[in-house]
Amino acid sequence: MTAPATASNLLELRQKIIAWRKAGDTIGLIPTMGALHAGHLSLVRLAQQVVKRTIVSIFVNPRQFGPKEDFHRYPRPLEQDLQLLAQVGADLAFTPSVEIMYPEGYSTTISVGGLSATLDGINRPGHFDGVATIVTKLLLQAFPDIAVFGEKDYQQLQIIRQLVNDLDIPTRIIGVPIMREPDGLAMSSRNRYLSEEERKIAARLYATLDETAKKIRQGNDIKKAIKEGIASLKQAGFNKIDYLELVDAQNLKPLTQWDRPARLLTASYLGTTRLIDNIPLVP
Ligand code: AMP
Repeated sequence: MTAPATASNLLELRQKIIAWRKAGDTIGLIPTMGALHAGHLSLVRLAQQVVKRTIVSIFVNPRQFGPKEDFHRYPRPLEQDLQLLAQVGADLAFTPSVEIMYPEGYSTTISVGGLSATLDGINRPGHFDGVATIVTKLLLQAFPDIAVFGEKDYQQLQIIRQLVNDLDIPTRIIGVPIMREPDGLAMSSRNRYLSEEERKIAARLYATLDETAKKIRQGNDIKKAIKEGIASLKQAGFNKIDYLELVDAQNLKPLTQWDRPARLLTASYLGTTRLIDNIPLVP
């Protein structure tokens, strides 16, 4: 178990990358906000199967949080994260500060039209501009052969695919299926906000997605299945459902008929904790 090298500024990052490139090594980037769990580590493992060197960035990006969101209380257990990265054998942890990423006078925003306007884009205005901006910066900073993202943030993954395609960024984007707790709850750094009681209820999020997906697969009316899903979440104790929606898996447009690869997505609140999850429906 070797601790990963660390870089906290661009010079350190690029020195590492230049040395690897000189040696002919391929490079993979895994962008994260830290508070790492097995879901994040599965992205690192996937990258290790494809490239020689893996860089995990840990940066809680202020630009993707709304003014009333949890930026300040977002967990930042750096020592623990580095230990986990050592266990999985990541080569480099890139841990820039806000001042390094957005120095005084910084004024550029990347905005991906269309895909950013729906689902979380409605409920978290500006969120995806923050994501697109930081991911673009990271890709240009590290110039990786691949970058790995989780399907947990499915809309984010589709937006990044679009971004890389539109801007001719020569990095292959790889999506990885969601890692779940034994009761089905999607692993998330935000799960630690849940009280003991909320944590028990939280398992109903995936269970409801699964039940709703089954109904749709069996040919039941989509609107009705979704209505029942929302009722079931409320009944379980979710206090606010931002959306439970079936969309086209590529362009994220709402579907009234299941006639193509689709995704059923939800964002729902337990108390003040907003949980997201999704499930694929492939005809
Ligand atoms: P975050 O630190 O929450 O910004 O997540 C960093 C990356 O890990 C994103 O690409 C997420 O989609 C991915 N990720 C987070 N949770 C999971 C999970 N349970 N399974 C797979 N990937 C995940």
